[in-house]
Order: sequence, then C-alpha cells, then structure tokens
Amino acid sequence: MSSDLLHQDGDGSQADEGFSLYAQEEAVIRRAEGMIEQLDVVSNGVKTLADAYRIGYRETVRLVRISDRMQLELHEANRILSAQAEDLKQLNDALHKEIERRERLEHELRRIASIDELTGVHTRRYVLELTEYEQRRLMRHGKGLIVLMMDLDHFKRINDQFGHAAGDQLLRDFGELLRGGLRKGDIAGRFGGEEFLAVLPETELDVAESIANRLCEQTRAFRSPWKDGSLHMTISIGLAEVEGEEPLERAISRADQALYEAKSAGRDRVVTYRPASVR
Ligand code: GH3
Ligand code: MG
Ligand code: MG
Repeated sequence: MSSDLLHQDGDGSQADEGFSLYAQEEAVIRRAEGMIEQLDVVSNGVKTLADAYRIGYRETVRLVRISDRMQLELHEANRILSAQAEDLKQLNDALHKEIERRERLEHELRRIASIDELTGVHTRRYVLELTEYEQRRLMRHGKGLIVLMMDLDHFKRINDQFGHAAGDQLLRDFGELLRGGLRKGDIAGRFGGEEFLAVLPETELDVAESIANRLCEQTRAFRSPWKDGSLHMTISIGLAEVEGEEPLERAISRADQALYEAKSAGRDRVVTYRPASVR
C-alpha cells in the first residue's frame, strides 16, 4: 500500500491515535476496495469489450472468408455460364447452317425432281402433280383442262442419221419451242424419251387446237444450227379434253389415241379426240 494512503503522524504511537488511525485505514481500505471494485468493473468492461472485439473479429473473418468463397464460386459459375453461352451460340450457329444447307438441298432436290435436265421442261411426275392441283381448282369453277400428247416423228432415224448427241440437241430445242409456244399458266413436261405432254387449263378445245397447230408449224419450220441447218424435226400431237372429275390418266389415254391417229395419218399434224369419234 502506498504511503499516501496511510497517513501516519508523529512517532506513530497507537495509544491516543489508535482509533483514528484505524478509522483512517478503514477509510483507505474502503477507498481501495472501492477502487478495486471499480477496477473490476473496468476490467470486466475491458474483458467484455475484448470478447466482443474477438467475437466481432472472428465473425468478420468468417464473413470475409464466406464472401471470398462466394465471390470465387460466383466467378466460377459466371465462367461456366459464359462457356456454356458460347457453346450454345456455336451450336445455334451450326444448327442454322445445317437448316440452311438442308433447305438448299431440299430446294435442289425439288428442282431436280420437277425439271427435266435435258429439255428444261417439267418432269412427267411434276406435270401430273401440277395437273391434279389444277384439276381440283378448276372443278370448283366448272372449267376444264385440255391434254396434249406429243411425240417427235421418226426420232430413231434422226439418231441413226446424225447421232445421239444431235438427237439430244433436238430434244433440247423442242423443249425450248414448247416452253415458248405455251401461255403462262399452261403446264409442259417431258413424258419420257421423245414424248412430251402439255396441260392447258381453262382452255376451249378450238383454242387448244390452234395452239397445238402453231406448235406443229413452229417445230416443222425450226432449223437447228447444228449440222449446218440440216437438222430438223416434226411432231405429231393428240388432243383430248379432261371430262369433269375423271382421273387424268383417262384423258391422257384419249389424247394418246388421237396421237396414234395423227401418226397413222402421216405424222406432223394435230388430231383431236372428240367424244364418240377420233377425227
Ligand atoms: P415415230 O414417228 O413413230 O414416233 O417414230 P420414232 O422413231 O420417233 O419412234 P420410236 O419409239 O421407234 O423411237 C423413239 C426413239 O427416240 C428411240 C430412242 O433412241 C429415241 N430417244 C428416246 N429418248 C432419247 C433421248 O433422250 N435422246 C436421244 N438422242 N434419243 C432418244
Ligand atoms: Mg415415242
Ligand atoms: Mg417418236
């Protein structure tokens, strides 16, 4: 205990000053105890504060760690999502390209299936397809169709005389004549070999006859530049009208009969099938 807490006066005799000294000590002790109590309070406060700081620090460190880990995880998730987005974009691009490629292919296949490579007119199959559609459409309006069957005359002789390549060239030339000789909306095709077929929608029989005759004349007058203009051809045409809802093959068969008549009558001509008789 420090000397200023114990004020000892004189020689320190306890006989007369024993009580007061004791009282003083008591007071000092009480003050000291009070101070110690206060120190305890302060110490407890410091301890509590220290604990709070410690807990706070630990929490902060924990939160920082959680936050760091979350950031890393978010970063990683972001990286994965970006990579996936890039993959998806590439997949999408590839799909687009594939769809375009298939569309081009389909278009090309449709073109191959619908256009005869040598003559540029439609294929037989496509003519029949288009005609069926036209037939259904016109039936609703009560209007008819005319079928023309055409066959190049003595084509075997042409091949024999001038060669197959010359025959091919004449087929090409006839394809062009046929396309040029028909009207918009008429359907022209190669039926096979040197046989052709045309379908004229919404056409009177007389009009169809004059169209066929003109085509016959144009074919006769045509001179291919091949072989110095000596390469030429004629065609026979049979005509028939499609009756109502009958299958197209029946009208084709009647047009074929008329064509046969045209061949028998000397070729290079048009014959029309008329009900009950072929003229
Ligand atoms: P017709 O007047 O009676 O029709 O006589 P044709 O010689 O034309 O008839 P035929 O049916 O006897 O002969 C048809 C010929 O057409 C035989 C074949 O070699 C020829 N031909 C068929 N397709 C082609 C082809 O794509 N190119 C060539 N160059 N010739 C063909
Ligand atoms: Mg033939
Ligand atoms: Mg022929």
